Amino acid sequence: MATQNLMSAKKEEKGKNIQVVVRCRPFNMAERKVNSHSVLECEPARKEVAVRIAGINEKLGKKTYTFDMVFGPQAKQIDVYRSVVCPILDEVIMGYNCTVFAYGQTGTGKTFTMEGERSPDAEFTWEEDPLAGIIPRTLHQIFEKLSENGTEFSVKVSLLEIYNEELFDLLSPSPDVNERLQMFEDPRNKRGVIIKGLEEITVHNKDEVYHILERGAAKRTTASTLMNAYSSRSHSVFSVTIHMKETTLDGEELVKIGKLNLVDLAGSENIGRSGAVDKRAREAGNINQSLLTLGRVITALVERAPHIPYRESKLTRILQDSLGGRTKTSIIATVSPASINMEETLSTLEYAHRAKNIMNKPEVNQKLTKRALITVSCVVSCVHIFSNSVQ
Ligand code: ADP
Repeated sequence: MATQNLMSAKKEEKGKNIQVVVRCRPFNMAERKVNSHSVLECEPARKEVAVRIAGINEKLGKKTYTFDMVFGPQAKQIDVYRSVVCPILDEVIMGYNCTVFAYGQTGTGKTFTMEGERSPDAEFTWEEDPLAGIIPRTLHQIFEKLSENGTEFSVKVSLLEIYNEELFDLLSPSPDVNERLQMFEDPRNKRGVIIKGLEEITVHNKDEVYHILERGAAKRTTASTLMNAYSSRSHSVFSVTIHMKETTLDGEELVKIGKLNLVDLAGSENIGRSGAVDKRAREAGNINQSLLTLGRVITALVERAPHIPYRESKLTRILQDSLGGRTKTSIIATVSPASINMEETLSTLEYAHRAKNIMNKPEVNQKLTKRALITVSCVVSCVHIFSNSVQ
């Protein structure tokens, strides 16, 4: 047992590979209409997914990939939540920062996985809806778990979107969806940034959750009417920060902080198998700087390059710590089973497979004494004043 503990401590020190899982959605109407056939075989028990590369009349050629978990078209929202997110939420409650990315071609289920949908005819409440995705389930569970064990805690959420390298706050009270936010270096943390004016909403109880999520969704709908292909080109970063009170044996009050980022990335269709912008997309001027840089950052991390180009995009600056840093990171790669999407599916699987080699060095956030927390809040206010004055 002692050796095992020592070994796991060593592993923690050396770093941990990021967790990569694949989810394949069922066929959709468009794919059925053109009689597209299935090219994907999901083997959840073996954690494998195989793509049949050759046509049906040719000798069968298969490419098989192994991931940390594989979810086939029958997998339900609750299955993904239980297997992927439950253990992550436990770590957030222990005081870690964790990030989950959804990566894949547009229409493969990134938003379905992260946010989910409502069943028709208001058949269920939001908390019971089987179509609810990771975000509502997580918020619901935070309240359930922490209230259950009697912890004194507070929950804050923010919803930031990146479109064309500009930042938008979907939870801002302002009705103007065109309002852009500015980002600054964090003087206290060289891997961090401060997003000036980003609304962080305190969620007092689980009944407020749905209302807040609906507010974000309504703003997103407005943004979609104003910005070209908004839903496929924007990256959405939903963050939950939990402050939890702990009392030490000698009666000192400490505050433990855990943060979870749930990121729904832009559609990956313009990124080639190597992680670089596809030639056709580049010619059409259709380059998503943040998604391209994410690919480059992954390549640099995997190849252990001396320079990691985090600074080349907003997304990688904001999530720098989730890529090769102290955050525990997971990727859910979403794919279609249909032959018409085979090229994109191969691209997504190659990209996700490469990302498996990224190492994080997860570190639990330092617990703060009440006094330190007050000092930190004061520094943060000063920084805000400073960023206002450099405007
Ligand atoms: P993306 O965010 O990747 O563009 P969406 O989440 O919008 O894709 O999904 C596209 C469509 O596919 C939606 O109508 C959604 O209901 C459906 N869908 C996606 N994944 C699944 C799934 N696992 N099971 C059932 N339907 C799904």
